[in-house]
Amino acid sequence: MRILVTGGAGFVGSHVVDRLLEDGHAVEVLDNLSTGRRERVNAKARLHVCDLRDARLDEVVATTRPDSIVHVAAQAAVSRSVLDPRFDASVNVLGTIGLLEACRHASVRRVVYISTGGAGYGDTDVLPTPEDHPIRPSSPYGASKVSAERYVDCWAGLTGGRALTLRLANVFGPRQDPAGEAGVVAIFTSRLLAGERCLVNGDGEQTRDYVYVLDVADAVARAVVTPDAVGAANIGTGVEKTVNDIYRELAQLTGVTVPAEHGPARPGEQRRSVLDATRAKKLLGWSAATPFGEGLRQTVAWFRKDLRP
Ligand code: NAD
Repeated sequence: MRILVTGGAGFVGSHVVDRLLEDGHAVEVLDNLSTGRRERVNAKARLHVCDLRDARLDEVVATTRPDSIVHVAAQAAVSRSVLDPRFDASVNVLGTIGLLEACRHASVRRVVYISTGGAGYGDTDVLPTPEDHPIRPSSPYGASKVSAERYVDCWAGLTGGRALTLRLANVFGPRQDPAGEAGVVAIFTSRLLAGERCLVNGDGEQTRDYVYVLDVADAVARAVVTPDAVGAANIGTGVEKTVNDIYRELAQLTGVTVPAEHGPARPGEQRRSVLDATRAKKLLGWSAATPFGEGLRQTVAWFRKDLRP
């Protein structure tokens, strides 16, 4: 199968590209390299350096003629979306619309859209949260990702294409940017290995669902070869981990004995978030295969190599 992956130079996208190539697909990447890195793009994939909002997008999609598009590229930082919601929407909403238009012109039949669980559902009444739970994004980022989901569904309805949205939990693993805001595993790991103290916001008992990036790539790999799977599916472990749990396990793996520092709680931070991935199991036969501790070990091993001078 010929597959175009947007955002394939980023954290999640580069693992998706590696996995699709391993499965024998022909893969091309579209990325503007704003947060992605050229060297992360697998040498077997052709890279088109292009912005989602660029007029050249149509041409890239038309010449690639993909059977499927995996749309990973996004403005993925909640804090930037709060500071500049127009920019966030220009990439996440208008960029997605531009891509869907290019799909329509090139008669692409399958789109797998990478969305967010936690930021989309917002504060939830039901934990683990299923896909039919009300959507209550509390940030412009959550709102733009949810809005793009709606455009993806409209594209499917209007063109007869088949679209599946994967709503990811908190992803962690090798290649995550420790300078990023949300990757607590990446931030703690790089600080612990550099001998720096880690700061926990508030009491550290806030929970998230942490899914290993290779398991996310596995979900995408299943999604592209299962065109009958449509709608939305959560991609998470169903297990809640606290920030304190993560610090404890990472400190042990890196041989650190000093406790983390605690700072003030972040105003408006969600207390608990965990996804119900039953639908992904039904549709794709997918469930998170990597135990949390094993994922952390792989992540620490990768950061040790990456940080070596
Ligand atoms: P990332 O920043 O590493 O990857 C985003 C990629 O998109 C980068 O390579 C970047 O250069 C590219 N990009 C950004 N704007 C672009 C534009 N205008 N045109 C073309 N390319 C552009 O972030 P990530 O963590 O890998 O996130 C990937 C996707 O997964 C996003 O859609 C995000 O919303 C979603 N997601 C991530 C997480 C997580 O925990 N990392 C959780 C839920 C959902």
